[in-house]
Amino acid sequence: MKKDDMIELTIEDLGVDGEGIGKLDGMTFFVKDTVIGDRVEAKVMKIKKTYGYARLMKILEPSPDRVEPRCVHARQCGGCQLQAMNYEAQLRYKVNKVWNNLTRIGGLTGLPRPEILGMEAPWRYRNKAQFPFGTDKEGRPVTGFYAARSHRIIPCTECWLGVEENQMILEKILDHMETYKIPAYDEQSGKGLLRHVLIRKGFVTGEIMVCLILNGRRISAQDALTDSLREVPGMTSISINVNQKNTNVIMGSEMIPVWGQAYITDLIGEIRYQISPLSFFQVNPVQTRKLYETALEYADLKGEETVWDLYCGIGTISLFLAQKAGKVYGVEIVPEAIEDARRNAALNDISNAEFYVGKAEEVLPEKYEKEGIHADVIVVDPPRKGCDAACLETMVKMQPDRIVYVSCDSATLARDLKYLCGEGYEVKKVKACDMFPGTVHCEVCVKLEREKLSDRKILMQDVSEITI
Ligand code: SAH
Repeated sequence: MKKDDMIELTIEDLGVDGEGIGKLDGMTFFVKDTVIGDRVEAKVMKIKKTYGYARLMKILEPSPDRVEPRCVHARQCGGCQLQAMNYEAQLRYKVNKVWNNLTRIGGLTGLPRPEILGMEAPWRYRNKAQFPFGTDKEGRPVTGFYAARSHRIIPCTECWLGVEENQMILEKILDHMETYKIPAYDEQSGKGLLRHVLIRKGFVTGEIMVCLILNGRRISAQDALTDSLREVPGMTSISINVNQKNTNVIMGSEMIPVWGQAYITDLIGEIRYQISPLSFFQVNPVQTRKLYETALEYADLKGEETVWDLYCGIGTISLFLAQKAGKVYGVEIVPEAIEDARRNAALNDISNAEFYVGKAEEVLPEKYEKEGIHADVIVVDPPRKGCDAACLETMVKMQPDRIVYVSCDSATLARDLKYLCGEGYEVKKVKACDMFPGTVHCEVCVKLEREKLSDRKILMQDVSEITI
């Protein structure tokens, strides 16, 4: 087989970025824009020893799960890798992927396929959107999304994952730019003013925030723009973020308030959060609530426990747990997130949560070895790479009764579970949660309990250490 050959194959699985995977003559082919179950004709673009990449030419027989993407830009954008698959099939795919990783990488034999918490309406779930601005060939301002793997803007003010207000806000800003001849920022020359617009909405409170990210400190006819944006129902916060660096990082560090409050407020469950333009906040609050309620259920708190929440971010899980625990300690590497966590604790009159800035793999051993702190329950919600080995080791040494592992990558989750299961813990419950419908991502929550047998093993080790 060689480049440019036409091949026919059936798509059997999806790769990490949602690309279809099919097999032919012992070779594995990756074919973008296909769905599991499609029979396709594809052109070989690149070929290696055991695998290759091919371009979809024709769908010979569509998968029964194939649907027309709701967004006309789905293929170009690449943000929603699974939009051509019906929602049930998306959920099925995610469950299978989690189950495969947990059984194959994690060695969890006999695990039933986990339940997945899906969304009733898997659209318009994102409470945050960041739109880049640019200039089209006719010299007019445009906004939309970057075409996959480039910084070319495809004009589009309507994204089905975002809230309806986004479109109205973007059109008001584009109008203002045309009226007052305000140039969009140009990455090549470093000239121009408007770089990005950040929009956030509190799903429970209805409050809306607009933050203009400028290569400068103010925008022409700022009052006229403010008046226009204030017409959007729910608008409570308008601000400018200054970013004058020639960089891919969207936001700069300086904020200039323009109108209203410097933050919006929203709730997840009973807990209230103040969210500023620079704060981290989970983007799908409806599913976040379901996921963190699962974490709380798995923590199985009676009211007196000492709980550690590692990789705690702005403390969303910590504050959830604090309602039911004796004491919660949160650990997070980003200092600003910890500032938010402390402020949110105070905002909710939660006084039994304490937060530390630092790496989980450094803070936990230090607190355990030097201060002898203990844990009844440890909750972790690490980034994609999973928990650091030193962190896992200390967790095991601390012998919490339960460990609740919240994960956004089931492969690294499986690796870490394998370690924990080898050190005396047992997986009791697993539930997946679809935080990002339309995309390949999937969150998982796992409950582990310390095995009774391991109590004995650890006791024996202690005894032998003493006799030596
Ligand atoms: N539960 C959190 C989100 C967790 S996302 C919330 O709802 O806010 C994972 C977090 O781990 C991020 O905030 C990231 O900054 C943090 N992080 C990454 N590496 C870390 C490390 N080594 N130690 C502690 N925190 C870390």
